[in-house]
Amino acid sequence: MTRLALAIALLAALLQPAAAEDLASRTFGAVAAPSPSPARAVGSYSRGCIAGAAPLAIDGPHWQVMRASRNRNWGHPALVALVEDLGVSAAALGLGGVLVGDLSQPRGGPMPYGHASHQIGLDADIWFQPMPEPRFTEAERESLPFRTVLNAAASDVDPARFTPAYAALLERAAKDARVERIFVHPLIKKTMCAATEGAPSRDWLGKIRPWYGHHEHFHVRMGCPASSKACQRQAPPPKGDGCGEALAYWFTPAPYTPDPKAKPKPPLTMAGMPRICRLLAEAGHVARPRPRPFLDQAAVPTPAGQATPVPPSPQ
Ligand SMILES: [Zn+2]
Repeated sequence: MTRLALAIALLAALLQPAAAEDLASRTFGAVAAPSPSPARAVGSYSRGCIAGAAPLAIDGPHWQVMRASRNRNWGHPALVALVEDLGVSAAALGLGGVLVGDLSQPRGGPMPYGHASHQIGLDADIWFQPMPEPRFTEAERESLPFRTVLNAAASDVDPARFTPAYAALLERAAKDARVERIFVHPLIKKTMCAATEGAPSRDWLGKIRPWYGHHEHFHVRMGCPASSKACQRQAPPPKGDGCGEALAYWFTPAPYTPDPKAKPKPPLTMAGMPRICRLLAEAGHVARPRPRPFLDQAAVPTPAGQATPVPPSPQ
């Protein structure tokens, strides 16, 4: 290459936007297994990663993982324990158990599609649908559409779908000291505020946060574990039940009116990730094999002669 050609090539490279290979979602989305290190959440919910993630078994006594082929059933061991306990509560409330959506990727980080948060192994989505008996098959879990709990006009919840059992499950989750926030559709929050009107103490409702979407699932978020020193804490939700003005805001045009001056956020690049996360994603990188769910041997017997891929256990 002549010097001129080299200079042009260098200039072209400099003028390029973030090279596709540098996209953090691509790198983290291609990692198949967690890091063999002690569990710790690093960075923030929407810019971070998780070391030593644990898998939530695809099948457990009171839960089923949906869309298991996505390989997003990983989280901090404390989150895995929380989801398992939510399943126990759901079963006790007559819901059969919980259908679990995405937690995090094996090492967290941004995902090629789906969520801005869920990056540090402390977020989990739970479907607003009971767990049936017999359970959904593997194929059904991949294709079953989300089901809303709103009515056809989306003007209120459908009481046949957003049942008192779900309100009770959300209340239990909100009262759990491990949970910092729960995101639900504003109409769900409104329903829960109305149902608890006049109750002597309902500060727990403050953890139930109205947000866009979240009418087919709710999103549980834990606070930073004390042992995760590099986990960026989020300010706790404002004091009180959040049923007044803060909720009324969601029934004005403001949250649904785009700000013409707002610039779209550029996608996260590896260079923009916390240093520990860059090292974590690159160290011992294992390319993701063909998606295949693993089964919890304790809960589901493995057919003879069929290998069950078991991910490395966390330290
Ligand atoms: Zn979520």
